[in-house]
Amino acid sequence: MNKIQRGALAALLIVIVVMAALAPAGIGFLFAQRSQQHDEAERLNTVADAALFRAEDVTRRLSGALGEIGKVAAVPCSPPYLNELRRIALTHRQVRDAGAYDRDGRWQCSSLLGAVSARVLDGLTLPPPDWRSRDGVMAWYGLSRLPGGKSSLVMGRNGFYVAADPSLYVDTLNAGDDVASGVAIINTEVSRVIATTPATDANAILAVYRTAPPVRDDSPYVVRRSVSMPLAVVVSAPHQTLRQRLRTLPWGWLLGGLVAGLALASWAAFFFVRRLSPRGQLSDAVRRHQFIVAYQPIVDLATRRCVGAEALVRWKYQDRIVRPDHFIPLAEHGGLIQAITDQVLDTVLLELGEFLKRYPQYYVSVNLSAPDLTTHRFLDVLGPAIARQGVRPQQIHIEATERSFLDADAAKEVISAFREAGHAVYLDDFGTGFSSLSHLQNFRIDGLKIDKSFVDTVGQDAASSSVASHIIDMAATLDVQVIAEGIEHEEQAAYLIARGAQFGQGWLFSAPLTAADFIRYAGKTRGA
Ligand code: C2E
Ligand code: CA
Ligand code: CA
Repeated sequence: MNKIQRGALAALLIVIVVMAALAPAGIGFLFAQRSQQHDEAERLNTVADAALFRAEDVTRRLSGALGEIGKVAAVPCSPPYLNELRRIALTHRQVRDAGAYDRDGRWQCSSLLGAVSARVLDGLTLPPPDWRSRDGVMAWYGLSRLPGGKSSLVMGRNGFYVAADPSLYVDTLNAGDDVASGVAIINTEVSRVIATTPATDANAILAVYRTAPPVRDDSPYVVRRSVSMPLAVVVSAPHQTLRQRLRTLPWGWLLGGLVAGLALASWAAFFFVRRLSPRGQLSDAVRRHQFIVAYQPIVDLATRRCVGAEALVRWKYQDRIVRPDHFIPLAEHGGLIQAITDQVLDTVLLELGEFLKRYPQYYVSVNLSAPDLTTHRFLDVLGPAIARQGVRPQQIHIEATERSFLDADAAKEVISAFREAGHAVYLDDFGTGFSSLSHLQNFRIDGLKIDKSFVDTVGQDAASSSVASHIIDMAATLDVQVIAEGIEHEEQAAYLIARGAQFGQGWLFSAPLTAADFIRYAGKTRGA
């Protein structure tokens, strides 16, 4: 991955993490708002029900009073008649004034003022009513010329009337309600506003009533019609201040969303960091079987005939090939090496199984790490796997470095189990560790691999130039085989042969090959 790609990936991840945080918070906020709207709609409905109940009740009481006046037997505006009017006005709390008018609508008398003189009467003719029912009840909305109040609601019939304060219709509303709604009572037959709560715009409410908005949770109005009277109430949602809105916001949803967002974001961040860490990528590679195997021929130095191959793992990462030195230590520390060893074995058997079965004289040497040498696990995998392929145990060799003898007792036990099962075991990179010699004493093994660094100095004046020769002597004494690694020049090969080394590998003979190339290489040297 180059710098630009890494930058783009990092940016993408930040976007994903931020979205992971914001999405649940946003959803929480939406739910909070929804729930707030729902509560608000519920509240408007409750207010509307109460308002309609009140409006119907007041109307019923006024027409009740009107009915009582109709039953008064005395001559209109006579003292007994006026007495009756006063009694009715007193017994009906809603009635502010009651009186009579003549056929032309001229005012005759009132419970408050008694009989009216012709002079007063002059200016007082009732205008045509705002509304008239089929059975002769009339209503004036907002009459200001009758006594008892600036603006009265007047209901009349057959020459008598009752007057009331229109605010009666709405005055019980909003009591104890901390967010005041606007309420208006409307006569639905003439579309006139009868009464409103203070500071309510009657025209605006009438407009709402006429367009009759659909009843939705987020609609700021509720319209409720009476089934028994030509009445409707319109309740409008109060205009809430930001502070009121925040106060009534269901914080549970919001906080829940925030917490979920944070949790999701942390998880996403953790996931990406893990996935993008070297270990995460290696673990991905294991899961996806991204390993391939190269086979470096091992030859008989004297005849140059191929005797086998060392299996060398490579990681095919995107379109690059990663050398084992770059990931084996990580795999060992990250607990992935055993899975990699298994994949190497699977690949070897897949690619060379047939070949090994057909040519029992060849072997493939497999590199193991400490975890593979601490338990019998790999041996238990190896045995059945080669048996299935018809490959002999002698055809799979094991290479172990000193580093893999962390638990010396366990390694000793496992190594002898491999040998008992028929697998030759080699000590790899011999001479580079601190205690190579002591291992030779403690472990029974089949051979040594002389490290490339000692082969490199062969024929030079360096102090280590004779180490290879000493190792060969020692191997002869202990009666174990020797394989010299990293032979690049003829002189090195000649020197090693002269000292008695039997086997070698290195670029002089062949670099690591694909399976097909290895099979060809082996065939060529067989024919030689
Ligand atoms: P090693 O076991 O010492 O393997 C020999 C290394 O020397 C290989 O490097 C091979 O490509 C390289 N080599 C062979 N001949 C020459 C030569 O003439 N000149 C030079 N300059 N180099 C030569 P490679 O493939 O990079 O492997 C490096 C190490 O990774 C191996 O060292 C081995 O310790 C480890 N390794 C490789 N495959 C596996 C595996 O499957 N499992 C484990 N646990 N370790 C592995
Ligand atoms: Ca090796
Ligand atoms: Ca080696």
